[in-house]
Amino acid sequence: MCGVFGIRSEGRDVARLAYFGLFALQHRGQESAGIAVSEGGRITVVRDMGLVPQVFSSEEKLQALPGEVAIGHTRYSTTGGAHWSNAQPVMHRGAVRTVALGHNGNLVNSEELREELAADGVRLGSTSDTEVIAALVAREPAPLAEAVAAAMRRLEGAYSVVCVAEGTLVAFRDPHGIRPLSIGAIGSDWVIASETCALDLVGARFERDVRPGEVVWVDADGLHTAQAVPEGRSAACIFEHVYFARPDSRLGGREVHMARVRMGERLAEEAPAAADVVMPIPDSGTPAAIGFAKRSGLPYDEGLIKNRYVGRTFIQPDQELRRQGIRLKFNPLDEIAGQRIVVVDDSIVRGNTMRQLVQMLFDAGAEEVHVRVSSPPVVSPCFYGIDMADEDELAAAHRSVDEMREHIGATSLAYLSVEGMQWATHLPSASVCRACFTRSYPTRVPAEGAADKLRFEAVGSRA
Ligand code: SF4
Repeated sequence: MCGVFGIRSEGRDVARLAYFGLFALQHRGQESAGIAVSEGGRITVVRDMGLVPQVFSSEEKLQALPGEVAIGHTRYSTTGGAHWSNAQPVMHRGAVRTVALGHNGNLVNSEELREELAADGVRLGSTSDTEVIAALVAREPAPLAEAVAAAMRRLEGAYSVVCVAEGTLVAFRDPHGIRPLSIGAIGSDWVIASETCALDLVGARFERDVRPGEVVWVDADGLHTAQAVPEGRSAACIFEHVYFARPDSRLGGREVHMARVRMGERLAEEAPAAADVVMPIPDSGTPAAIGFAKRSGLPYDEGLIKNRYVGRTFIQPDQELRRQGIRLKFNPLDEIAGQRIVVVDDSIVRGNTMRQLVQMLFDAGAEEVHVRVSSPPVVSPCFYGIDMADEDELAAAHRSVDEMREHIGATSLAYLSVEGMQWATHLPSASVCRACFTRSYPTRVPAEGAADKLRFEAVGSRA
């Protein structure tokens, strides 16, 4: 989970546009944020821990970033701890060029690549896999686009990347297209963003997605493109449709919100409940709850009020923060008392949030709480940039549905089927990754233990 943004323009305030692009991508990462600009080939990076408006807290900070190219990043850690040295964009000075780079995804072979770079005397200043990519591009003795293509041939796993080097904006995507990456245009200027909602905010029209295995680069002559590595089996992350992407974004040409409504409709068909009212876990369960209510004929209402100024609990990386987060975040309404409630959420990953919410609803006087989940049970880790790499943390990995119902304390529990979820996206099953639901991975996966996100941290510095 991370958001990336890039723009090249001779006439616009590129740092300001990157700021607003990142603002639209805040949901993809709330630990740190940063912008790198290139002015006449000279790169400056500002990055820090915190939300985008916290990192860029004044006009002066943006005004100090003039240039023709800007790239930006919002981070949620999946390799390397949540500390400053792993904030992005990273900047790496190599033997051939200096590269600033932002990455969404996760490499599955970063350990091998780190060892190889270390053996060649390349020093890395961070523990994330992102600097590995920057270092490969920075040392390759070839024109920039060819250097990127050479680096891509070495990478395995998920990567949607923006980078700047030699005054050129570059974007590239892994051959399976696991994480999203879109191209837009404002007038004759080109924009790259993780999601189309960022293009909308800066006034860019959507042109197309970066193709799996493609590298695009934008210089003073405009946009150029090459198929750097052969396109593999398409494996776009289906969890983006379920939860991660903003509902107003378009993935694979389809609006995410409507896919989520369809998931709720299908769920109502597959797992109806005798109840008085349907309510969402806001905001992640809202579209599916709308769909469930529509199809079931039950009234839709709000029962939990969310404090929208608290970050998403899923995005906070440490268990203790997550536990505290729930109390800060939701408050039940009086009308819950005496009701048989269908409560809809998009997914259950670790189960802590749902267990506390069910308890909260019963404490508020609910008679019955029927939990309906608009995706299948998450049973297997993600190695592609979503922080669920440890099977032991996945509540459903070793529990039956009834054991899960008992675990969360609900009156009844049902999940959407894999087929139902697939149907709702309107995408062919052969074009997506659904490995965390099915255990069928589109790439080689790391050996046990090699996926620990803090594996490159020195003992004592694991954050
Ligand atoms: S394993 Fe799950 S979360 Fe990870 S890329 Fe595949 S579908 Fe997405």
